[in-house]
Amino acid sequence: MLQTHTIINQKETIVIKYGGNAMVNDEIKRSVMLNICELHAAGHRVVVVHGGGPFINSILEKVQITSEFIGGHRKTTPEAMKYIEMTLLGEVNSGLVTLINHLGQRAVGLSGKDGGLARASKRFHQEEAENPVDLGQVGNIDQIDPTILFDLLDKNYIPVVACVAPDEQGNTYNINADMMAGAVAGAISADHYCVLTDVDGLMMDKDDASSLIQQLQVHELQPLFQKVIVGGMIPKIESCQIAIDNGAQSARIVNGTRLKTLTDAILEHKPIGTIISK
Ligand code: ADP
Ligand code: MG
Repeated sequence: MLQTHTIINQKETIVIKYGGNAMVNDEIKRSVMLNICELHAAGHRVVVVHGGGPFINSILEKVQITSEFIGGHRKTTPEAMKYIEMTLLGEVNSGLVTLINHLGQRAVGLSGKDGGLARASKRFHQEEAENPVDLGQVGNIDQIDPTILFDLLDKNYIPVVACVAPDEQGNTYNINADMMAGAVAGAISADHYCVLTDVDGLMMDKDDASSLIQQLQVHELQPLFQKVIVGGMIPKIESCQIAIDNGAQSARIVNGTRLKTLTDAILEHKPIGTIISK
């Protein structure tokens, strides 16, 4: 059921990164999409950027493409890229759009290609090294043209963006969804950039839930990359830095597997997750 919250006077722009574990469980997926619909119904402008790692793993397994992982990135061949794009757009993106529409709001699915939203370039592993490692069609976002997003938001749609983007030559790249979401949040000067994941936020010790960092400023993050921020948390925190450095007002890492995370954070102003400010 869509809960009614007080309709707010001031429209805020919210970018939500959705992916990973919070995505494979249908019940959680439905509750996250319902929460997104509630933000929209309360009058906010909402953009969703999503990944789909588990779905990509499953299709590549089915078609028997084995991937080599280098520094946490899947080396992406043209053949793999074809299946990745099919899955992200044809299955994951279209599934989220279907769900949001079914829940009563209007979503439009797009990738970084649509309306010239994103421009990417090839990403190398250990870019600074003498012999950087070629990751195939794994890309970095170089530029976002938010026009298409503003057009959709002005018409009251919820844009749902898949993390695929082209380079200048028209090659297609697989982009880390955290990085794509951070770039989008910066480019549209989001009031809130919310990264949904499967833990309660950034912790001093990732295995100790009581060590959650509730609030910190963007300049305090750098030293934490030595020991505290590891694995999948690295692109999330980097994406928060990118978002804030490019114009987002605030960023936060929250647990998307808990019910009502987004409405608690945005509509009820509860201090949940890790809040990163300028
Ligand atoms: P998603 O699928 O949401 O992208 P990831 O698995 O890529 O999630 O990243 C989230 C994971 O990052 C957490 O489950 C946790 O294991 C790991 N992590 C690494 N460092 C930290 C930290 N300092 N605090 C919390 N989680 C951390
Ligand atoms: Mg991840």
